[in-house]
Amino acid sequence: MHVILLLLHPLVFPSHLALIPVISKNSVNPDTIFANNEMSLGDIEIYGFDYDYTLAFYSRHLHTLIFNIARDILIQEHRYPEGLREYEYIPNFVVRGLHYDVQRALLMKIDAFHYIQLGTVYRGLHPVPDKEVIAMYDGCHVPLENMSDFYGKSSHGHTMKQYMDIFSLPEMNLLCSVNDYFMKHNIDYEPVHLYKDVKEAIGDVHVKGIMYRAVEADIENYISYGEQTHAVLKKLYEDGKKMFLITNSPFDFVDRGMNYIVGKDWRDLFDIVIVQADKPGFFNDRRKPFRRVTDKGVLHWDRIHKLEKGKIYKQGNLYEFLRLTGWRGSKVLYFGDHIYSDLADLTLKHGWRTGAIIPELRKEIKIMNTEECVHLMTWLQGLTGLIEHMQVHRDPASQAVVQEWIKEREAMRSQTKDIFNGQFGSLFRTYHNPTYFSRRLSRFADIYMASLSCLLNYDFHHTFFPRRTPLQHESPFWPEQTSRGRDGFHCDTLSKT
Ligand SMILES: [Mg+2]
Repeated sequence: MHVILLLLHPLVFPSHLALIPVISKNSVNPDTIFANNEMSLGDIEIYGFDYDYTLAFYSRHLHTLIFNIARDILIQEHRYPEGLREYEYIPNFVVRGLHYDVQRALLMKIDAFHYIQLGTVYRGLHPVPDKEVIAMYDGCHVPLENMSDFYGKSSHGHTMKQYMDIFSLPEMNLLCSVNDYFMKHNIDYEPVHLYKDVKEAIGDVHVKGIMYRAVEADIENYISYGEQTHAVLKKLYEDGKKMFLITNSPFDFVDRGMNYIVGKDWRDLFDIVIVQADKPGFFNDRRKPFRRVTDKGVLHWDRIHKLEKGKIYKQGNLYEFLRLTGWRGSKVLYFGDHIYSDLADLTLKHGWRTGAIIPELRKEIKIMNTEECVHLMTWLQGLTGLIEHMQVHRDPASQAVVQEWIKEREAMRSQTKDIFNGQFGSLFRTYHNPTYFSRRLSRFADIYMASLSCLLNYDFHHTFFPRRTPLQHESPFWPEQTSRGRDGFHCDTLSKT
């Protein structure tokens, strides 16, 4: 319909229609493994895994559980108002990778160029008007020194904390809820203290073992898709691959979960099992030695000269792990869901190949495949191309049309955000740009996928090739431009040479 209207427009010549991309009929399979960097499974001899959200995928009941326990800790131990009990976990309110301005108590999405995406700044449970955001930040740009340092590892002294963990969804939600309560009741508070209290309460849910006990007591309710994980591990084992586990979780918790996912013989599949590893410190800190723990959790103090199959080790560090196993370089592939804690150091320092597990991909791809989304994106792309080309006509009539298109594009940009998440949009994009999260994902993960089960669709000699999308200077128009536009350019160029 848009194309017909365009044809009638005096400013638009038929040749301009080449700027409108053809609507793609190919939908993306949510079980695809995507490559940032070329990698062949044929080269991989050793597979390593994180546990939580990599081998064990949790249902959303876990977020509600974490939220409720942390909220009650705030009330009982930090003496926060009883009225907070009215707040419940809101599924799909936040997305991963958001930044939180600790001093201003604002949650927001930031793009790969450190710009705040207007329309995604939340105080409590409500959006902050764009004008107010621009006045507060003197624009939309957040200087590097305000961001968490070295890929989010430490937020010490920095005002912007990034939430990269799937476990942090309830934490963001709780922060928003408490902020909301304080604002509603005109309670004066110090935002930095609130941030620290919520962080501590959430930390206690893990550290004091409350979450572990709750999950262990009702495992069927919390762990999902166990059969698929089991099938992947079995397939790798039968193919003679070496496998290891490095997790921050304690042994009894992992043991209970793996018993449920694989069965009581789960340890037969793994050559090495390391628990309470303290990642990302595990990848950096050479000082912590490995310790052996028994099934009952008893710690042995003897020096470790060998990491043996069937035994359980605690802590340690990667340098020692490499020395004892010799498992170095690109024959090792490690999977994790935390882009910083699991994958950053392996890519930057140690040269293992990395696979990111991004469960959100499945939902986002399903949305991308809907007819509504395909039409929206195609038209947005076409409109952007038209604006770029037509802006050169400076006469008032043409400018009026261009201004109309600009307005329409603005309106469509919010639609393309809301289609993924009403508050914060897609995990991967801020309007046209990649998010801060996306850029780090492409830097630290060789491949990424919705879940480990995607591996079941490939044989172990498969090579993953990143698509050769044109760089900005390689394409005359838009990276997603159809062959129609590019071919046209090609022929013209060739005929001139
Ligand atoms: Mg994890």
